[in-house]
Amino acid sequence: MKKTLFLNPPSYEGFDGGAGSRYQAKREVRSFWYPTWLAQVAALVPDSRVIDAPARGLSLDDILPQAKDFELAILYVSAPTFNSDVQVAEALKKANPRLMVGLVGAHVATLPEPSLEASQLVDFIARHEFDYTIKEIAEGKPFDEVDGITWRKNGKIVHNRDRAQIHDMDALPMVAPVYHRDLVIEDYFIGYLKYPYMSFYTGRGCRAKCTFCLWPQTIGGHTYRTRSPAKVVEEVALMKKMFPQVQEFFFDDDTFTDNHERAEEIARGLGKLGITWSCNARPNVPYETLKILKENGLRLLLVGYESGVQEILNNIKKGTKLEIIRRFNADCHKLGIAIHGTFIVGLPGETRETIKQTIAFAKEINPHTIQVSLAAPYPGTALYRQARENGWLKEGDLVQDNGLQIAALSYPHLSSEEIFESLADFYKAFYFRPRKIAEITFEMLKSWDMTKRRLREGAEFFRFLRTRHDGCEAA
Ligand code: SF4
Repeated sequence: MKKTLFLNPPSYEGFDGGAGSRYQAKREVRSFWYPTWLAQVAALVPDSRVIDAPARGLSLDDILPQAKDFELAILYVSAPTFNSDVQVAEALKKANPRLMVGLVGAHVATLPEPSLEASQLVDFIARHEFDYTIKEIAEGKPFDEVDGITWRKNGKIVHNRDRAQIHDMDALPMVAPVYHRDLVIEDYFIGYLKYPYMSFYTGRGCRAKCTFCLWPQTIGGHTYRTRSPAKVVEEVALMKKMFPQVQEFFFDDDTFTDNHERAEEIARGLGKLGITWSCNARPNVPYETLKILKENGLRLLLVGYESGVQEILNNIKKGTKLEIIRRFNADCHKLGIAIHGTFIVGLPGETRETIKQTIAFAKEINPHTIQVSLAAPYPGTALYRQARENGWLKEGDLVQDNGLQIAALSYPHLSSEEIFESLADFYKAFYFRPRKIAEITFEMLKSWDMTKRRLREGAEFFRFLRTRHDGCEAA
């Protein structure tokens, strides 16, 4: 077995773009998701090591001296950081010419040939779901025989046949021992989760076909493939034992609540462990299911609303109706389930008026906290193809030089500058109103830790608003 390094490469200061992050940018407040995709494959390769450089605050200079300790390096790359990720790959190879270097992630899965052409020092790309692909390479299997890679054979780029999707999710080993061996869990913050938190996957894929959403269209696919409830509860029990300091567990599956019966069964098992947990959900979970989840430790749901305008939801194939969302939110409020709601400005069909309508909708349904993103057309998504066909995509990057998002799309009736500006307006309209200020003040009064945290986040948030503006003007 080759001695293997799994690297989330260093890039912009505070950039969360790698192996566990859905939208790849530096965030409003310092946030990092766990590098779950890398940890999962690392669990298949004995004696490997995961280095999560952005979360640890490591630079290339910190990592380079370790290149000599490994025979294989797997880098998780993202679209916004691709160029700097390749530079990291090249630097590792120069530091240790015997090192075999492979790239993984949604961006290279979508564009394997140009990604490999970007550097002669990269040996292969592992496309799509790469767990067993990397395991076989680490075992020393000849490239000719490894499904799912793009590589150079006698100087010519070849694409081996696709690797079959994994369906036996229980066969994948637990990530908890890798977290324990390689990560410092206090490095991971998410503003709306208790600290320290821990996240992992209990399944992959999403049945929905939202046009902007990166992972189901590139790696996870459109079938929700899941671990058995017993295995999920077993892993949480192990995590609880290994990391007694964890305050909250987060299930990062695209839509953990998609299979109601399964979610209820897992919840009952978690209830016996006495833990606090949260998960992603679509805004269509019935009251009875929500009630069972709440009674068994559910604290918060992370819900992607995207827009408060039905026509835009239809344009992006969201598959939800505003009326169902209203009912779902009322149910959550009634049960005392907190919601972190995510919205996107600049999706197809957006106008100045629809931005106002979405802000009004956000205030009406009143999630506890929100996140607003700028529509990001990642290669490999239907939104990207649509944007190219319609001329909506400004040439260039997805992030500024400082890692903050730019508004990559513009429409004849709505400029990218207006979309960019609307993000700050959205936040201000949502948070700077008496009801929300009172809610947050009340939350702070209940706990000194929460007070310190909200003050820090508040300062970071104002810095974010200032920096993104300065960065954009400078760009
Ligand atoms: S429901 Fe969520 S995870 Fe599924 S495709 Fe839509 S945005 Fe992506």
